[in-house]
Amino acid sequence: MKFLCDEMLRGLGRWLRAAGYDTAIAGDGAPDRGLLRQAAAEERIVISRDRHLLEHRAAAGRVVLLTAEGTDGCAHELSARLAIDWSYRPFSRCLVCNTPLVPASVFDRAALPSTVAHLPEPLHRCPRCDRIYWEGGHARRMRARLARFATTPTDDITVEAATPTTAIERDPAARRRGRQPPSVW
Ligand SMILES: [Zn+2]
Repeated sequence: MKFLCDEMLRGLGRWLRAAGYDTAIAGDGAPDRGLLRQAAAEERIVISRDRHLLEHRAAAGRVVLLTAEGTDGCAHELSARLAIDWSYRPFSRCLVCNTPLVPASVFDRAALPSTVAHLPEPLHRCPRCDRIYWEGGHARRMRARLARFATTPTDDITVEAATPTTAIERDPAARRRGRQPPSVW
């Protein structure tokens, strides 16, 4: 399954990426027709909160409309509609640009600033946007939350903003200037 989340479901989209699903996220103000065209061309299921989308003929059989509040609520609602495996391929994609991650090389590690040079293995790199990812305590918390998405919701759901796994941006220009690259979490 591949997905295209509308801009209102950006948080859910990042969690689908965290679970390993190929998930495009619509840009701000993307027109309905463009969104449906992209979904058809790339064979994606559209996940949306916008019921006006259903008025388009091209939406037939392609759109899952969610009404729940918050990322947890939407994740549970989506799980009730589609067979989502929240432990599909965890942390295998870049949360920012959706590209499959590759193992970091010794050169990637050598390019890290000394302040973050002793990160726990395994390290992965996004070949598109060059972010480095690693698993730490945040990844355990994310796995726990993905596991919660897979369970039946209770009345006591904590709604939090989606938190990306730890990543740092290796901006070559910033490196040349000798600055610490920014963290995205
Ligand atoms: Zn990326």
